[in-house]
Amino acid sequence: MATKKNATRTAEIFRILDATYPNAECALHHSNAWELLVATILSAQCTDKRVNEVTPGLFAKYPTIRDFAAARQEVLAADIRSTGFFNNKAKSVIGAAKKILNDFGGEMPKTLEELVTVPGAARKTANVVLGTAFGIASGIVVDTHVQRIANRLGLTKNQDPVKIEQDLMKIVPRDHWILFSHQLIHFGRGICVARKPKCVECPLNSLCKSPDKTA
Ligand code: SF4
Repeated sequence: MATKKNATRTAEIFRILDATYPNAECALHHSNAWELLVATILSAQCTDKRVNEVTPGLFAKYPTIRDFAAARQEVLAADIRSTGFFNNKAKSVIGAAKKILNDFGGEMPKTLEELVTVPGAARKTANVVLGTAFGIASGIVVDTHVQRIANRLGLTKNQDPVKIEQDLMKIVPRDHWILFSHQLIHFGRGICVARKPKCVECPLNSLCKSPDKTA
């Protein structure tokens, strides 16, 4: 009986998210899968806004994967300095470009198994690229927003992103995996923020039993 009640509740959560964020999309600007991979690598510990300020000039300077592969690490690091952790990010981007050129003929791989072998593309990043650039539902992106909100809404009891993803994949319909992540990320930025969530204006308020609730 409890299971049926839970299923009804989660279905209602998905319905409200669909009504509130019907067209939620990735906030990182890109024009192809490679650019999205680069932007996602740069977005670690950085805002999407800052990344979007950096990438137009970056992609103009390095128009192709081959250009990134040929870049000197210290030069690329200087180009992406404002995104933070620039040395590691430059190393990852150049490593990713070389890997894609050498092992995948210059084409972005389209499976999770292949993509996670690319430097800088762990499971979360691979899910972002496959879902957003190719429309392939390989899994559910679990970033800090998804991690926090899935717990607040009782969709998981885990803190580990891999375990949260497994929990969510069992209850979110597969044709919603891509959209669901974008919806929670938008919701997490606008309403269910980390500190002092705006529960007064939350469309999921009546379904939320989180101790973090402010109203
Ligand atoms: S009621 Fe508050 S804590 Fe619960 S989901 Fe909404 S904003 Fe987040």
